Parts: sequence; C-alpha cells; structure tokens
Amino acid sequence: MRKLKCPQCEVDRFFVKNESGENCLVNVNEDYEVVAVHSIDSLEGFDLSMLYCLGCSWKGSPRSLKSGSHKRVKK
Ligand SMILES: [Zn+2]
Repeated sequence: MRKLKCPQCEVDRFFVKNESGENCLVNVNEDYEVVAVHSIDSLEGFDLSMLYCLGCSWKGSPRSLKSGSHKRVKK
C-alpha cells in the first residue's frame, strides 16, 4: 500500500480529531482513504476530512496530499 505524504514535510502520518477533541493516528492510502495506523482503533466519530500532519503544522483534506512518487508524466 502506498501512502500519501504531507505536501510540506513528506511525513506519511497524520492524525484526525473527533468532537471530543481526541486524536487518532492515521495513514492515507493512494485511494485517498484514511486508515487507522493501529488497526484496533475505530475511526467512527472522527472527522476524516481534516488531517493534521505529525511532522509539521500542515493541515488539510486527504485530497490535498501528494502521492509518494514524483509527478507522473502523462503519456
Ligand atoms: Zn508535514
């Protein structure tokens, strides 16, 4: 599974928050799906549309992450 990375610092771990202010550590795969790093964690109740980078102050939606490779050249 390829993971998407932070556009600023290229860290591939993020956290999401729920209404109670709790955090959950997640990765985002190349289908822009948010996946809990620890598979026992449930993402129910968490806002998966807003990611917070673990490595820097970046935050944003899964769609604004960059894929692991450099820009693909269209053939
Ligand atoms: Zn970052």
